[in-house]
Amino acid sequence: MNQKHNEALQSLLDQVAMGRLDRRKFVSMVGAAAATSMFGPSLLEQALAAGANQEERRASLQTHYDFIVVGAGAAGSVLAAELSASGAQALVIESGGPDDAPTITNPSIWFYNVGGPLDYHLPVTPSPRLNNRKFNMALGHVLGGGSSINAMVWTRGMQRDFDGWAKNGAKGWAFADVLPVFKSQEDWEGGANTWRGAGGPIHIRRPHDPHPTAPAFIEAAREMGMPILDDVNGPMRPGAGYINMNIAADGTRVSAARAFLRPALSRPNLTLLLNTNVVKLNFKGARCVGVKLMTDGAVKDIAADKEVILAAGAINSPKLLMLSGVGEAKALRSRRIPIALSPRCITGTGLHARQTRNTFSHEGGSIPTNLTEFCVE
Ligand SMILES: Cc1cc2nc3c(=O)[nH]c(=O)nc-3n(C[C@H](O)[C@H](O)[C@H](O)COP(=O)(O)OP(=O)(O)OC[C@H]3O[C@@H](n4cnc5c(N)ncnc54)[C@H](O)[C@@H]3O)c2cc1C
Repeated sequence: MNQKHNEALQSLLDQVAMGRLDRRKFVSMVGAAAATSMFGPSLLEQALAAGANQEERRASLQTHYDFIVVGAGAAGSVLAAELSASGAQALVIESGGPDDAPTITNPSIWFYNVGGPLDYHLPVTPSPRLNNRKFNMALGHVLGGGSSINAMVWTRGMQRDFDGWAKNGAKGWAFADVLPVFKSQEDWEGGANTWRGAGGPIHIRRPHDPHPTAPAFIEAAREMGMPILDDVNGPMRPGAGYINMNIAADGTRVSAARAFLRPALSRPNLTLLLNTNVVKLNFKGARCVGVKLMTDGAVKDIAADKEVILAAGAINSPKLLMLSGVGEAKALRSRRIPIALSPRCITGTGLHARQTRNTFSHEGGSIPTNLTEFCVE
């Protein structure tokens, strides 16, 4: 099978899993033999079950779920899958559409996504620190979010950063704590070892056909006395080496949606809404109790019995908070947005500085400190 064929089949499988293509149409397009020989019967059956299940779930949308995840991007795809695995009723709401575009599946044309229809391409206010350049910031607006349009470079954060967070009080975030999670996600082509995982949902490999300048670059680094790393996600040290990429053995992109969400879409307790915008977080007192969403031109309120989890990305999560009346009081007033939380707020803390923890719990009745800090006078 050639690469183009693999990409086309993956896109079709995505359409099946979204309920946009039924078995008859799928088999008539690819042929019965190709359908099972390429994916194995279980993957095709899983996608068909996912498509049928999601159609049913959307037709019987509930007014309450245990958890509502806003955004099915890199983080939202994992969270929705994990929550549904726990047995909870989970709703995941994505503003973008399905992820079956060839620019997603085919790694070699990923850059066509930038500035294209799957990118929010937000204009960035010119800053003197960036020489007042005018440009747009790329952000995925599609199922899988950034993980569907990005460059697929698989690089872990620095060990010292994780350890620094843990030292400053972020319990459970030391590198030794997160390493097992990194490993469990991976299916590293080099096999499992102290640093790497194998058998996980994301196939990771080195570039198979690097551009000729790449070995020249590494050779130049060697000549300058820099250590050459066999594995850039191995023991952390400075050096030069080939990047890792989250690309499947068949040469197609492995996004978070493909790796985590798609296998969960056949669960009856998971509902995915596409092309649906969350326009506001609903508060009852200081508790976030649900969301207001806009779909097909209609506005609906859906309640979360346990939690609303904001996974709309680094720009849209705080934007949604502000539109919901959680933010710097001065900024909200200047835009005539009513403040949702009572102003028993801490002075002087910027919204952007506290954006890391986006889960609002309303169990137990108190709001987390970081949420209190969002509303500043
Ligand atoms: C062009 C590009 C190249 C990149 N290259 C790499 C790379 O090579 N390696 C790497 O590790 N990282 C890369 N990144 C970064 C990486 O993709 C992001 O860090 C990651 O996707 C962020 O995950 P997230 O879940 O926070 O947000 P996202 O993945 O952006 O997900 C947020 C989701 O929320 C949805 N959403 C937003 N607002 C709403 C709303 N109101 N209602 C409902 N849904 C909403 C969005 O449509 C989106 O799908 C790249 C990013 C881009 C854009």
